[in-house]
Amino acid sequence: MVTCGLRLRWRGMPIIDRFWSYVDITGGPDACWPWTAGTDKDGYGKFQHGGKGEQLHVRAHRFALEITTGKTGATGMHWKCDNPPCCNPTHLRWSTQTENRADCTAKGRDAKGDRSGKRTHPESVPRGSAHPAALLTVPEVAAFLHVPTSWVYDHVRPGCSNPLPVIKIGKYLRFQMSDLAVYIDSLATNARRNKDL
Ligand SMILES: [Zn+2]
Repeated sequence: MVTCGLRLRWRGMPIIDRFWSYVDITGGPDACWPWTAGTDKDGYGKFQHGGKGEQLHVRAHRFALEITTGKTGATGMHWKCDNPPCCNPTHLRWSTQTENRADCTAKGRDAKGDRSGKRTHPESVPRGSAHPAALLTVPEVAAFLHVPTSWVYDHVRPGCSNPLPVIKIGKYLRFQMSDLAVYIDSLATNARRNKDL
């Protein structure tokens, strides 16, 4: 019996019994067995355990699979029903990360655009020329903006109407990625404004 490091009893009730008391199995063996207690923001059941003052949660479907398969620590879960609160172990199985990714893509749930991890967690993007704090050289800026290097030099000269946000480190010209992003945004906004006029 796998207990996931949990105490076996909770207020006198075996933890496993308490767990199943929150699962609606009235639909029968083939139906989805929804979690009836609290869920997290993604709709997954949250099973709270631990003693007084302890706030310990496990995802309910994961716990259901752990106690029925006797396995823990597998990389992912695979739903046959794609129903986050479902705790019917026959609708669940452990899966590999590759499987999860493939499943996600097939169902069109890959986060793109503003929902992508790069936007929601920019700190997760590895440091490199794309990092907001990265300093770019003139050739790198030219490549990034798809313009000739002469254009970059023109746009750091005093008196230029659209000057690039340049940082001088000694005699070297450097450009911070985050400044460039703001610069591109302002150009795009101006372009839109001009079109609207
Ligand atoms: Zn189900």
